[in-house]
Amino acid sequence: MSLTGRPLVVVANRLPVSRNGDAWRPSAGGLVTALRPVVQQVDGHWVGWDGGLSEVPTRVEGFEADMHPIAMTDAEVDDHYYGFSNRTLWPLFHDLLAEPVYDRQWWRTYEKINLRFADAAADLDLDDPVFWLHDYHLLVAAAMLRDRLPDATIGLFLHIPFPPPELLSRLPWIDQLLDGMLGADAIGFHTEWYRENFVRSVQRTRRDVTVSGDLIHLPDGRSVHTAAHPISIDVSEFSRLATADDTRRELAELRQQFDGRKVVLGVDRLDYTKGIRHRLQAIEQLLVDRPDLQDQFAFVQIAVPSRDDVQEYRDLREQVEYMVGHINGRFTDPGQDVPIHYLYRGVPKTRLAAYYRLADVMAVTPLKDGMNLVAKEFVTVQHAARDEEGQEAGVLLLSEFTGAALEFVDDAIMCNPFDVQSLAARMAQSLTFDAEDRRNRITSMAEDVADKDVFKWVEEELATITSDPRAVRVS
Ligand code: UDP
Repeated sequence: MSLTGRPLVVVANRLPVSRNGDAWRPSAGGLVTALRPVVQQVDGHWVGWDGGLSEVPTRVEGFEADMHPIAMTDAEVDDHYYGFSNRTLWPLFHDLLAEPVYDRQWWRTYEKINLRFADAAADLDLDDPVFWLHDYHLLVAAAMLRDRLPDATIGLFLHIPFPPPELLSRLPWIDQLLDGMLGADAIGFHTEWYRENFVRSVQRTRRDVTVSGDLIHLPDGRSVHTAAHPISIDVSEFSRLATADDTRRELAELRQQFDGRKVVLGVDRLDYTKGIRHRLQAIEQLLVDRPDLQDQFAFVQIAVPSRDDVQEYRDLREQVEYMVGHINGRFTDPGQDVPIHYLYRGVPKTRLAAYYRLADVMAVTPLKDGMNLVAKEFVTVQHAARDEEGQEAGVLLLSEFTGAALEFVDDAIMCNPFDVQSLAARMAQSLTFDAEDRRNRITSMAEDVADKDVFKWVEEELATITSDPRAVRVS
């Protein structure tokens, strides 16, 4: 491990623990799973918003890091989280799929909260720590931390896309945002595209930097290392889930429910970036083009509730539910099951794994997505199930606008989700793929994921953050 005994301070919007009744537990998210092993090996600390819950314990069983909760008032959460993070940066960084709102009050609160996180991290007063900042909620905290601790080792990872300069330049605070990020020693992105967008944005707004390879040289003598490190999943966990007893039981139930029908599956947070409306339009088009399929297939959409304090998300839910009703009303004959099964909820991991196994086609068709872990989970579960139980493989239908597209371009069925007609055609094509071809494609993708699981990602990121960029030869 590249930390060689140094303390690790993770700074992220949320703490990695949540309360269930009186008991505190590690949260279920991917980042929490990824970081659990490393924080347990070192002197681990986590600075994060307490989620409005008071009396967070310093230590929580199952996650061996010291918790450092940050409190925010309701008004601050409105401005920082729902406002600037999710109604300004989120749509701006996702190709303007919704209209970003530029509000000075939100920006001021965003700066204030970033400073609160940076101060809390600096106040820990540790011996030569490594700070690892996460995501779009905290983009200017790196420079604030650098102000307090000029020689600190600071990394930043962005979990969402980074937009091209042509879009980012709409942000009234673009200079402050980029300067804030450049406080880090190393900045990680999921893909080379996002990394290049960042470097081009810096070159466009700052005349006093030079770029060589993946280094940005600043006038104060510091260099910032930029890297593309695609995040991944805990492959062993999903491989185990694939054949767990509960998963098998759930799968048997689902197979009975969908007996004789092919299943197309969508699993997403209910977010306008995920392309759920376009996917539903494609399903309708498919049923128009291929009336013979009406009782031959079902489309299952798991829509996990998300950010329902934001108007755009409430509107989206209304539109999606209208469309589901419209399509089911149009294409269900008396005595027949509906073509679309819509679940507005999160499901337990074993049920999710059972759905991944059930699916003949996994429709991952976001209009924009930083990475998309569902695609990686699907191929992993399918592969593990086949190895153990000889299950026939399904097909991954994948949007070219996801980070995962770069890794799966050769083996997924690629699609442009904006082109509803061709999306419908791709779905129809995916339902008829030859079994051996499907198996080979799933194997190839699952092996790629297994080679680069989320623990590898942690290692790569920490190696980049802790390497001294001045030691890298400048060509
Ligand atoms: N997920 C979940 N419960 C569900 C459906 C999905 O916990 O009912 C998880 C899924 O396993 C995946 C994550 O939600 O790890 C979604 O990650 P992804 O990168 O696909 O999209 P994001 O929500 O981060 O935009």
